[in-house]
Amino acid sequence: MSTIFSQIVEGEIPARVVYEDETTMAFLDANPLAPGHTLVIPKDEHERLNDVPDAVATDLYATVHRLVPAVEASVDADASTVAFNNGEAAGQEVPHVHCHIVPRFEGDGGGPIHAVAGDTPDLEDDELDEIAGEIESRA
Ligand code: AMP
Repeated sequence: MSTIFSQIVEGEIPARVVYEDETTMAFLDANPLAPGHTLVIPKDEHERLNDVPDAVATDLYATVHRLVPAVEASVDADASTVAFNNGEAAGQEVPHVHCHIVPRFEGDGGGPIHAVAGDTPDLEDDELDEIAGEIESRA
């Protein structure tokens, strides 16, 4: 079963496609959080960022980089929130990597990305050192 986004790539279901190249595509979100809310995807089906091959990741970021100013300018936005819901526990519903570009406007009532997490942890210095070490060893 291909994802709904693969069906868009294949032209099996309609979408308002705003950009396409060999490996990536961008189209308007069907349920926009703001005018111009755009999704950028790799054409190949990868569920999470963790699954995306390096070359595709490079292409994906290049398309995000290209689309952010295009989207903002097209709706006269003051800023944008650019984010991935990476995995179900983070709110990802469509299991096909996609970057949300959400135009933001002064006084739009939205929050910063800091608002998406639950209770913030109270971490001691040694715990922070240990976590930093674990990440550094895998990066
Ligand atoms: P996420 O929760 O990060 O998986 O977000 C999935 C996004 O895909 C939501 O914002 C939906 O509105 C959007 N979406 C779902 N189906 C379609 C579709 N057929 N065309 C465009 N956007 C879609």
